[in-house]
Amino acid sequence: MVAEQLEARGITETAVLQAMNTVPREKFIADTYEAHAYVDGPLPIGEKQTISQPYIVALMIELLELQPGSIVLEIGTGSGYAAAVLSRIAAQVITIERHEKLVWSAQERLMALGYDNIIVMQGDGTLGCDDFAPYDGIIVAAGGPTVPVPLKEQLKIGGKLVIPIGSNQRKQQLYQVNRRDAYQFNEKRKGPVSFVPLIGQAGWQE
Ligand code: SAM
Repeated sequence: MVAEQLEARGITETAVLQAMNTVPREKFIADTYEAHAYVDGPLPIGEKQTISQPYIVALMIELLELQPGSIVLEIGTGSGYAAAVLSRIAAQVITIERHEKLVWSAQERLMALGYDNIIVMQGDGTLGCDDFAPYDGIIVAAGGPTVPVPLKEQLKIGGKLVIPIGSNQRKQQLYQVNRRDAYQFNEKRKGPVSFVPLIGQAGWQE
């Protein structure tokens, strides 16, 4: 997976490649899909949600440009896979999921696998989480109509926010948002992606 799907497509950051190499993706999906754990695409995880394609997970994490000691906020815990990968690079990961069932299963799985620097919370991630802000990086694993203002406000100066944005609920452009100072943000488009919708106060209505 790392050589054929990530390095071959231009993922170069050593910390990201090592983290993707370390986290056992087969532990984050149902037994029925175990044989497909390393396929080059997303897989169902219940509640009509998906674990993202490995390449997209790696690309988004690379775009966060994390340094050791970083604190990261993830919106859309899903299976907990991306949180586990992030936890191998960052010092602390806070991850928010809106579906209660997914929160419980991710929490249980991450504890069982020994990932002890991840806090899983239930809620509307479009509002972020003030308790641990500001963040060095914020990664949003669902597509919204616009960049949620609370997430921009909770980003450290110099921090990066990576989020799929689009007017179509299933097709987006991946954005890397860089906070330059208290009021200025640079946005760069990083190519087309297809994510499940970001549902919440600063996202799509259910
Ligand atoms: N990162 C996940 C993984 O590694 O398995 C995959 C995430 S899946 C593509 C997107 C997730 O975002 C879904 O589980 C969905 O329920 C969640 N989601 C959508 N809107 C949300 C919101 N406002 N707050 C928190 N989670 C949200």
